Amino acid sequence: QLEPAPSPALTPMMAQFFEIKAVNPGYLLFYRMGDFYELFFEDAEIASAALGIVLTKRGKHLGQDIQMCGVPIHAANDYLNKLVKLGHRVAICEQMEDPKEAKKRGAKSVVRRGVVRLITAGTLTEDDHLDARAANFLAALAMVRHGETDFALAWADISTGETFTADLSADQLQDELARIDPVELLLTEATQSALVERHLFAPSWSAIAHTAPAQSFDSETASATLRGAFPGEAFDPSVLSRASRAALGAIIAYVGESQKGVGVALRAPLAETTSTYLAIDAATRSSLELHQTQRGQVRGSLRQVIDLTVTAPGSRLLSARLAAPLADAAAINQRLDAVDLLANDTMLTGRLRSDLKAVPDLARALTRLVLERGGPRDLAAIGAAISAAAALSRHMAQLAEPPAVIARLASTLAAAPLALASQLALALDDELPLLSRDGGFVRQGYDQTLDDERALARQTRAVVAALQARLIDETDVRSLKIRHNGVLGYFVEVPAGHGAKLLEEPHRQVFIHRQTMANAMRFTTTELADLEGRIARAHEAALDIELKVFASLRYDVLSRTDALRDLADALAELDVTTALAHLAATRRYTRPEIDTSLAFEITGGRHPVVEDMVLAEGQSFVANDADLSGDDASGGGRLWLVTGPNMGGKSTFLRQNALIAILAQMGSFVPASAAYIGVVDRVFSRVGASDDIAHGRSTFMVEMVETAAILNRATRRSLVVLDEIGRGTATFDGLSIAWAAVEALHETTGCRALFATHFHELTSLAKTLTRVSNVTMKVREWEGEVVFLHEVAAGAADRSYGIQVARLAGVPEPVLRRARQVLTVLEQRSTGSASSSQKASVLDDLPLFAHQSAPTPVQQDPVLLALDAVRPDEMTPKQAIDALYELKKIR
Ligand code: ADP
Repeated sequence: QLEPAPSPALTPMMAQFFEIKAVNPGYLLFYRMGDFYELFFEDAEIASAALGIVLTKRGKHLGQDIQMCGVPIHAANDYLNKLVKLGHRVAICEQMEDPKEAKKRGAKSVVRRGVVRLITAGTLTEDDHLDARAANFLAALAMVRHGETDFALAWADISTGETFTADLSADQLQDELARIDPVELLLTEATQSALVERHLFAPSWSAIAHTAPAQSFDSETASATLRGAFPGEAFDPSVLSRASRAALGAIIAYVGESQKGVGVALRAPLAETTSTYLAIDAATRSSLELHQTQRGQVRGSLRQVIDLTVTAPGSRLLSARLAAPLADAAAINQRLDAVDLLANDTMLTGRLRSDLKAVPDLARALTRLVLERGGPRDLAAIGAAISAAAALSRHMAQLAEPPAVIARLASTLAAAPLALASQLALALDDELPLLSRDGGFVRQGYDQTLDDERALARQTRAVVAALQARLIDETDVRSLKIRHNGVLGYFVEVPAGHGAKLLEEPHRQVFIHRQTMANAMRFTTTELADLEGRIARAHEAALDIELKVFASLRYDVLSRTDALRDLADALAELDVTTALAHLAATRRYTRPEIDTSLAFEITGGRHPVVEDMVLAEGQSFVANDADLSGDDASGGGRLWLVTGPNMGGKSTFLRQNALIAILAQMGSFVPASAAYIGVVDRVFSRVGASDDIAHGRSTFMVEMVETAAILNRATRRSLVVLDEIGRGTATFDGLSIAWAAVEALHETTGCRALFATHFHELTSLAKTLTRVSNVTMKVREWEGEVVFLHEVAAGAADRSYGIQVARLAGVPEPVLRRARQVLTVLEQRSTGSASSSQKASVLDDLPLFAHQSAPTPVQQDPVLLALDAVRPDEMTPKQAIDALYELKKIR
């Protein structure tokens, strides 16, 4: 903690630093000094470590060295990016006056400085800081003790203006935050401690959480803040719960604070109710690898396989739809109608997709313009988006009876403000600079006075050329040149050898010496200085006009903000719809039939991601059916118990069915030859948990916590996919828990479920529970090896083929042989045919690697000894048969 100490040693600059630092706690202070941002004390230590830059010292404070590091202005953006990615927040403190002004006030006075912007992960708008294909959500979590709801979450993407709120119960928090995946989370200290105390604060949140003062979460002041932030009829803050108002108020306060007075235009918030969506909890999201694999990679995730969008906003929308599929059959069917039409009209889809490729990121360009951070290219992007919309809507106009979604998109696109686009096209040049302050972006012919000023500037350039010719004539120095640089402005340059001549009469009347270089001498003349003034004035006048043009175009754009945002939405939605149609057409996906029944009938289903990988390896993916359909009369959906060897394809089969349900409900076609699904309210997927040692929970504990969550929360409409529950403990415990879980899902919940297990004992449940069936992954044995057919068939696996799988994995032959012996005895024991002394004799022969030491009684098994003597390579078929008979005789 940095305390301004009343020390005589405190320089005025340090006093200013402490003052600014004190009002921006929690931020690294980038303190502008000339061409650098400097960091001091702890900030310097943090930044130098994070950025790998040198830590130096500058003076002393309270007898201690002041740690310091700095980043040059021109590279500051990269450093900021890095710090923000690491979860730091930065306050940018600029010089608010020319240092000359400060000097005038007295030798000791410091340049006035002020914080102009706070940079945090959740308040970024610049393209080079943002991932084009990901939303960038800032979230605020409010907890209210006396309200309609316990918790509320508000979240906004400043870069696009999208804003949402949702009321939540305690047990929804983790799942909702996993879905929204914010980059920054605000909450009060009190909320955070309460969550930690109630074990509701997920460990992953600490990387994104920042505490905010309680008053910014005040629901009373929030009402006024909200009315100010969302003026107009469209939004009435009183419809929100207290908690939602508080959370939203906190977002607005934080954003306002971070942008230091520049108005941020958020869109009126959409209140989300979780029941409109297919609920997918955090563990399921991760187990199904929807957005990233469990190792955190995008490659190999469902999103990566299905995202065929061609624009960044389209990709963001697709990702949001995948994160929150719908739970309403009518809404899902509307989306499917649109995909259906386009999937069957590949000509139209092809045209739309090729035009969409040219559509820029309208929403983010618009936000930058609102925030006064936009440049000429952002204006051009808006024009380009409007023109593209017009072309797209012309393609769609050919449709006779478009489905509702297409009709809505077509009419929004047709309503694009074309006049604005033509105006922008008229005004803006083809090649544009990034920043308006550089000028040179207004097209010739757009503004008469600008053209005049530019002509003047050009003329003066011609005058310079004429002057140069005349001076050459007058001095007779052929190599004389008029040149320009940033320090001297315009000057006359002659090679060193000719310099002396100009210093003499009569030329010294005209030429004023400025600089002597090693091989040249530089001069100016009154005429040249005069000309320079004229050129600079013409330039300035031209730039002035360009800036005015920019401001007026910006104003025109901003006055169409609402229409442009609707347009941006429509373009993104069209991109997603055509991308899904393209996916359907190119990957043999079919339209699922969706209604409100308890059906779940998949014919020829495939795993979208595994299929891709298997095909890439030149093999074919085996499609499998699943039928979990049931109805209320019979007590709910069916439950399939899936047995089969490791590597047989159980997890693939389980997950593919969950993925098919998710794809269907997000409005996509599905990888199957037919699918009939009654809308699912929640998907649960658990795959044999791995140790969560980092968080101090054993495999078994994790598994049980998750099993409990499913048993407590699944409804009859849910789809439950469980892979090897109960594996993390001693056999009998695990079996009993798996057994009880199957009974509960069948008897109480009645959900549609797939349950993969290694406990073959479970398969007997099919006899007593009416809606339980046994299926198994087929394998064939071939010369002692297993061949996985990846085919689901009725029945239960008779063996688990663990030893064959071990062989495939390269476990050494002696170990395999020993394992087979142990297995035989264990199996006999369980069928009661081996005596306990037999069992003891085998199992006491441990260690398994005994063959390396003294031979054990078991290794002297006569069959094995005889077998060892057999040399198949040296035998005729007849000899082999004979050997086999011999072996049988020994037994
Ligand atoms: P299990 O869960 O039974 O151990 P997995 O589902 O992990 O088996 O499948 C193991 C491997 O088998 C997969 O990585 C994949 O390469 C292949 N596989 C699974 N199912 C199929 C299928 N239906 N068609 C083709 N290959 C498959």
